[in-house]
Amino acid sequence: MKVSDLKNTIINIKQEFSTYFKERDAEINGSLLALLSGEHVLLLGPPGTAKTLLANKICETIEGGNFFHYLLTRFSTPEEVFGPLSLKALERDEFSRRVEGYLPTAHIALLDEIFKANSSILNSLLTVLNERKYHNGKEVMDVPLFSVFGASNELPEEDEGLEALYDRFLFRFRVDYIQHEENLERLIFENTEDFVPSTKLNIEEMREIQERARNLPVDPEVRTIVKGLRRELKNSNIFVSDRRWKKIVNVLRVASAVNGHSSVNRMTVVLLQHVLWDVPEQKETIRKLILDRVVSGGTDTGKLKLDVFDLKNSIYRCLQNELPDLVACNKCYAEEKKTTDGMRSSRFSGIKPPKSLTFDNTLDFLKHHTEFPNHTYIIGLDYSNLNSSQSFESVAELFRRKYGFEFKISLDYGDKKLYEKEYKHLEERLNYFKRQIQEEEKALEKTLRENIWVSEQDTQEILIKYRSKNTDTYEIANYLNEIRLLLEKPKVFDVSFEKAGEVA
Ligand SMILES: [Zn+2]
Repeated sequence: MKVSDLKNTIINIKQEFSTYFKERDAEINGSLLALLSGEHVLLLGPPGTAKTLLANKICETIEGGNFFHYLLTRFSTPEEVFGPLSLKALERDEFSRRVEGYLPTAHIALLDEIFKANSSILNSLLTVLNERKYHNGKEVMDVPLFSVFGASNELPEEDEGLEALYDRFLFRFRVDYIQHEENLERLIFENTEDFVPSTKLNIEEMREIQERARNLPVDPEVRTIVKGLRRELKNSNIFVSDRRWKKIVNVLRVASAVNGHSSVNRMTVVLLQHVLWDVPEQKETIRKLILDRVVSGGTDTGKLKLDVFDLKNSIYRCLQNELPDLVACNKCYAEEKKTTDGMRSSRFSGIKPPKSLTFDNTLDFLKHHTEFPNHTYIIGLDYSNLNSSQSFESVAELFRRKYGFEFKISLDYGDKKLYEKEYKHLEERLNYFKRQIQEEEKALEKTLRENIWVSEQDTQEILIKYRSKNTDTYEIANYLNEIRLLLEKPKVFDVSFEKAGEVA
């Protein structure tokens, strides 16, 4: 068998199904993958969501496969599922069933109302699902079963003793009502029951791909993601047994083998969203966790962002010298006071201007002066005489005389050289990252398109998530721009406040 043939077969089946089953891409993908991996599928959802029909049609894609369909009730007997007792055997004083046409001879089975399974059939059912064996009297027979599709409207209650049965279903889908109007109309007015899948899967090929997948290597980054997910789920009290994890990794191998990949790559991890949840409410959280992890890694701009932020802060700290005395803007204070008095508020009615109009460091004071060059200031905390206010220049002059304080509006030569060097270095790192991100995005898109198991919706979401990483580079570029202005000072104030200055 050529793997590419199987891949094409799957693509064709998916296409055929998606024209008939709208909004069921994830379920179709998952069912086919479950079939190829020999796993069981649970379709959970309200009546009338075409669960049975979907399972039935998936079963029809197997060429020459035996199909067993049964609706379980609380009163179902072993005869109905495993076959009637053989009278001939009884005559010989032996106990055995005529299993032909029943679950023990099926390649695919669909069990409706699966959680109605009662204790008379549960043990044999578990053995069939788990070990692919059926104990028929004295004989232990091999069961050719690939997958059981279980359909149910609800999950079993905790005390019903059905946990083991529930655990056997690796793939779990919550099937909802059709959301989009046009799809709903199609469903109502067209006979989707008439759909007969024309592309078929061959049993030999299915067994062969399982064999091929068995020893496929798993990429180190996939191992890291799986380990991380295990930890995170444990922390969120979502328990996934080790046995399940083993099966999950096997499914990833089969998915990769069908894709024709030589190892399990990161994009395949997207499939985990359908095999990890325990109750449907966890589904979205888990999906988000997985998509985040699939997108994460690669170029990480986080460190660069921190470095740029640090540099900006250092420069600000350097420029931001403490004033020897507090300064408050007289003009702004008077205006503020007028407004609040007008509003009969007592907030500023007294003695002290609000904090926003008081300056205790050079940078804020300079910024205000650049913005409003004609404002005048009061020194110290005595606001009793508003007439004693002074211009910016005379405040500076007074500070110089009284305290020997010089305004430092630019960096020292040594600092400046150091910061400029750091700035150049960060700018180069940013440009390198930008190129990296572009190349990664191209590669990511290619990988996603090649992976037939990733649904269109997931592909779109992953690409959007990835692109949002680019907004980080915009933010970094903005910081760098700000730093450049600070370094080019004293223009920094003119540039930043030019517009506001003109208005004033
Ligand atoms: Zn002012």
